[in-house]
Amino acid sequence: MRCHYCAPGVCYRYFETACGCFLCAGAYARLKPVYRCLCIAIIVRLACVTGILKQPPFIRNQAWGMSYGYHALGFTEAIFPPIMGPMTDTGIEDLLVPRFLRYVRYWTESDRHAPETPSTAGQWELARTLAEELKGLGLTDVELTDHCYVIARIPPSPGKAAVPALGFLAHLDTAGDVSGKDVQPRLVKNYDGKKIDLAPGLALDPALDAGLAAQQGKTIIHADGSTLLGADDKAGVAEIMGAAEYLLAHPEILHGPVEIVFSPDEETGKGLPEFPIERIRSKACYTLDGGPLGELETECFNAWKADITFRGRVIHIGAARGRLANAALMAATFAVQLPRSESPEATDGYYGYYCPMEIRGDLETASLEVFLRDFDRAGMDRRIAALETIAKTVEAQFPGGTVAVEVKNQYYNMKEKIDRFPGALEILTRAARNLGIEFRFKPIRGGTDGSRLTELGIPTPNIFTGGRNFHSRLEWVSVPEMALACRLVIELVRLWGEEAPEPPPVPPAK
Ligand SMILES: [Zn+2]
Repeated sequence: MRCHYCAPGVCYRYFETACGCFLCAGAYARLKPVYRCLCIAIIVRLACVTGILKQPPFIRNQAWGMSYGYHALGFTEAIFPPIMGPMTDTGIEDLLVPRFLRYVRYWTESDRHAPETPSTAGQWELARTLAEELKGLGLTDVELTDHCYVIARIPPSPGKAAVPALGFLAHLDTAGDVSGKDVQPRLVKNYDGKKIDLAPGLALDPALDAGLAAQQGKTIIHADGSTLLGADDKAGVAEIMGAAEYLLAHPEILHGPVEIVFSPDEETGKGLPEFPIERIRSKACYTLDGGPLGELETECFNAWKADITFRGRVIHIGAARGRLANAALMAATFAVQLPRSESPEATDGYYGYYCPMEIRGDLETASLEVFLRDFDRAGMDRRIAALETIAKTVEAQFPGGTVAVEVKNQYYNMKEKIDRFPGALEILTRAARNLGIEFRFKPIRGGTDGSRLTELGIPTPNIFTGGRNFHSRLEWVSVPEMALACRLVIELVRLWGEEAPEPPPVPPAK
């Protein structure tokens, strides 16, 4: 149950249920948010002055837009430090954790077989919740498109309207590889560094996972072993939402226009064609969809998909000698001719691969779906040509049968176009350094919505979220790293407001 009245997250954070708090009661709830802020500001101020409250519990971490109320009353950081205190990781963690724990419970697993976008209803639910929360934070420019894209804009600070817009993206769906239904997140505070048993034969083992071992003494979140966690990409969603809340609560941070986009069906790649590019105003965007702290991805695979159709020649199998061409067997024969040394399980780094994703069929017809991945365009051409050769080989082995190969591009390596706007990376690197983060460049062995956006002319590198072991039951996320990702967004917005880099002169390619 979600609280409709008070600022998002407050009820959850402190009362663990909606509408149990006094903010939701009666007439008070019908006040406009700004008056609610003022009322609370006065009540809390009185309580603090009279000594009833030492530190207001529900606002101790500058958690929501109430500081508008404080600003309106003329209180500043100097007068009211507990409320308007400096940005700390603990404060940011309090903005992120309740959100993240809530978002992972939405069943947003995408379905690669569903023809429509979004492919599953759960994505609508999360999208609607996020749109409502963004409105609850005080944003008026919030839109939910026909295809379940949430687009919201934080207006620029006074005098900053001319600053070019920058955007942040995360995706709503989780991968279909492992169930994302009924996710039971477990919050481990002060992790003791020991093995965590999840289910028979399944454990988070620091001996096998150096990243996990390094979290000793810190807070992590994992699932119970029956599902994935969904940090990919709800960590990114929570980080962007947390940053938005923080920026709105801190009008003293001057910034230009900021755009927020949450997209459906990123994991299947099927959301990309519906990307509302015409509505995006940002000159550069950043996806929060990466892994460990410091990871920055500016290049990804060139991705193609091949749909291979096999048509056999059917005859009663009792009289089939020399006459039957079995389509099911043709598909299997094709699949085993793909080089095992160029499979996902045999490659890493910059090596590409072929991956049979699905095979189905019977005597008469069969189909095989193969993903082709290569960082290099020439490498991709070689792979496509190889499929044609294999098709001919299979046809030769099954007289009377035919094989048709149809290839389709999914996305391109974004490196080339990101390199055209070096300022977008340079300012990000500077923002990271201000927080003591050194980036490590790493090629993405996959793609993100950023790949598509970059292709359409808006450079979109991918930033870490703090998550690990994506698409698996062993997925976990480091809360301090989430906080740093969120702070990086805030710092980048601040820096960009001060000195936005000049976008490249070339018009966006269509
Ligand atoms: Zn992702």
